[in-house]
Parts: sequence; structure tokens; C-alpha cells
Amino acid sequence: MALNVGCSAAPGRARDNKTGSWRVFKPVFKHETCTKCGLCETICPEGCVKEDKDGFFVPDLDYCKGCGLCAKECPADDIEMVQEEK
Ligand code: SF4
Ligand code: SF4
Repeated sequence: MALNVGCSAAPGRARDNKTGSWRVFKPVFKHETCTKCGLCETICPEGCVKEDKDGFFVPDLDYCKGCGLCAKECPADDIEMVQEEK
């Protein structure tokens, strides 16, 4: 019997769940110092950072949980966490 143990194959993975209105902070990708290294796309636990047509990376805020990991790990300090306006 084949087992489905991969994170992306498991039911209910984070990328399938929209965030709703509870998020407190959201990332702003400034694109000022970005080197287009792609680390933010790799490290985002929600899998919601994607490369745009210009090679910059942008978060899908419908799925971003505001964890701040991308901003913490960005080597170019290009991502700022800002408080959500309610
Ligand atoms: S981690 Fe920072 S420098 Fe690298 S692509 Fe993302 S925003 Fe740009
Ligand atoms: S704040 Fe967290 S969930 Fe949102 S894009 Fe950054 S790493 Fe992904």
C-alpha cells in the first residue's frame, strides 16, 4: 500500500486555507533592496510567496498568515512587517 506522507500531499495543508481577517501583521515587499534570491519563496511555510513577471517576489495575502519568517530571513532586509488595518 502506498503511503502519502509528504507535506504537500496531506489534506488540509496550509496553502489550502485562506487566512480570513485574524492576521495582525502582513509583509510588505519593498523591492528596493531585493536581490531576487528567492529565499522568501522557499522559506514561507504557507507556500504563498510567488515570483512575478519581473522576477520580484510577492506574497499572496489571501493565504499569508503574517508569521514574519520571510522578513526575518530576507538577507537584503527588503521585507517589512506592518500592522494590518482593521
Ligand atoms: S528573500 Fe528578500 S532579497 Fe531574496 S527574493 Fe525575497 S525579498 Fe528579495
Ligand atoms: S509572513 Fe509568513 S506566511 Fe506571510 S509571506 Fe511571509 S513567511 Fe509567508
